[in-house]
Amino acid sequence: MNRKIPSFIEIYKSLIKIPTISSEKKTIDQSNKIFIDLLSNYFSELNFSIQIKNIPNTNKFNMLSSFGTGKGGLLFSGHTDTVDFDQNTWTKDPFKLTEKDNKLYGLGVVDMKGFFVFLLDIISSINIKKIKKPIYILATANEETDMSGARYFAQSTSIKPDCIIIGEPTCLKLVNAHKGHLSYKIDIFGHTGHSSNPDNGINSIEIAYKVIKELINLKKYLQQKYSHKDFSIAHPTMNFGSIKGGNSINRICSLCSITFEIRPIPQLNLKTLEVLLKEKLKKIKKKWPNRIFLKNLFFSVPAYEISKTHHIVQKIESFCKIKSKSVNYCTEAPFLKNIAPTLILGPGSIEQAHYPDEYLHCDFIQPTKKILKKIIMNFCY
Ligand SMILES: [Zn+2]
Repeated sequence: MNRKIPSFIEIYKSLIKIPTISSEKKTIDQSNKIFIDLLSNYFSELNFSIQIKNIPNTNKFNMLSSFGTGKGGLLFSGHTDTVDFDQNTWTKDPFKLTEKDNKLYGLGVVDMKGFFVFLLDIISSINIKKIKKPIYILATANEETDMSGARYFAQSTSIKPDCIIIGEPTCLKLVNAHKGHLSYKIDIFGHTGHSSNPDNGINSIEIAYKVIKELINLKKYLQQKYSHKDFSIAHPTMNFGSIKGGNSINRICSLCSITFEIRPIPQLNLKTLEVLLKEKLKKIKKKWPNRIFLKNLFFSVPAYEISKTHHIVQKIESFCKIKSKSVNYCTEAPFLKNIAPTLILGPGSIEQAHYPDEYLHCDFIQPTKKILKKIIMNFCY
């Protein structure tokens, strides 16, 4: 068959070359338009039809490419953005694909531009015209920040595939469940004054002490009440990330801020968690009105689970001869699940994602092509 697109390595190079950093910091955050355009060109060359949609009020874009029509089929999903990087900790150029010691290095090689390279390579190697059910490729924006790409797609699409595979780096293990993520900041405002008479002011560090005590009570409660044996850490976790307060030894501390995160398991939904959290702070807030302010630091991601007994999970488990498992990191699955049963499976390890000198071990290349091809054959032919 005549190959219409560049080689595996050439496509990889071209996608790694385009910076697509998502960040809460506006000065670092980048549009993914050039990346989406290039990806669309590749899929157009393979006779896929393309839809590019702007995420409202942003300079970010989603792409849906599809081949074939009719009901069902398969949707492969990946995010186009990467996290930011620290120049001082990378020993290689993050935007230049480097091959060394049987590894491919670059920002996004596993998380997760590489997934698109695999899909393009596989699709160009099969007789796509013979498919009986459609293949969709979704490329989303902003996964690393607020997941607005996946959320927007889930709200606006009308396609109904039989299954969705998100190609996050799972070491080619099938993932059917993951924890959620919520991050908070609590600002506590006191009233400053000279330290010689602490009663003359309100010390925010002393209020922070009470707030932390309540949060630790909540942490213990969540650990006792919720458990899921499939997770390596079976209960929801809470971690304090930072505490900052005061500026001088001889002053009553006026502002104290605490950040913390909670990672819920699937039985604990975001609403319940928010209610529990507010309930815990209620008494202290009543004692210190207008001094304690809780806010979300980032967009909250719910935990996700599709039952291991679901027929789609069992189907993939049986023809790929793998068992599904749970992980402690988040994906776009809680949003895409509204479209179709969603599983996570992709090349490379999450251990390399978000780390300097991100790499894909080349031992993943052949098994990934094999397993993705198998999935296409089973769902679309
Ligand atoms: Zn990712």
